Amino acid sequence: MLNYPEDLLTLIAYLKKFPGVGKRTAERFSFELLNWDQNDLCDLSALLSHLKKRIQACKECGCLMEKTICSFCVSQNRERHIMCVIANPRDVYAIEDTNSFRGLYHVLGTLLSPLDGKMPDNLNLSLLKTRIVRLKVQELILALEPTLEGDATALFIKEQFPHIYISRLALGLPIGSSLDFVDGGTLSQAISKRQKF
Ligand SMILES: [Zn+2]
Repeated sequence: MLNYPEDLLTLIAYLKKFPGVGKRTAERFSFELLNWDQNDLCDLSALLSHLKKRIQACKECGCLMEKTICSFCVSQNRERHIMCVIANPRDVYAIEDTNSFRGLYHVLGTLLSPLDGKMPDNLNLSLLKTRIVRLKVQELILALEPTLEGDATALFIKEQFPHIYISRLALGLPIGSSLDFVDGGTLSQAISKRQKF
């Protein structure tokens, strides 16, 4: 390891930042990159350098967008009276893959977790309140993971919006797992069998 060229050591250190990637895997990926075509490396490097500038969060719903307007918020084909509340923009893609939901989204940005300093102020709730009134939302589907943090967040939101029909994804999801580890069939069932919360 000590004999590696310095740039290679730096590359390995960066790759080790990925979750689940240890020293051996990072080394393997680094040597793989050394075998890549120069053009591919340039393309990847250009992509990474403007990634966060080009992909931003929609100021309305928090979903990721590439253009100046979000494809969900601008779509005329989506129901506006039903809104799916999710913790992270990534969860949108798991829900969309099921083809079970045609409403709008609202990304909280995080779940409540006082031990990690994630308090109610960190949830994107004031905008949710505004959107509910403006769009005349009648139902919120809380698509939050069945963990302590997800349960606490769901309860908190329920208290904040006592006059709205609030449902939560039906159980059937593995307890303690993240949404993106659940297969499409299970997630689809959970959406169609959602229950009043
Ligand atoms: Zn949007």
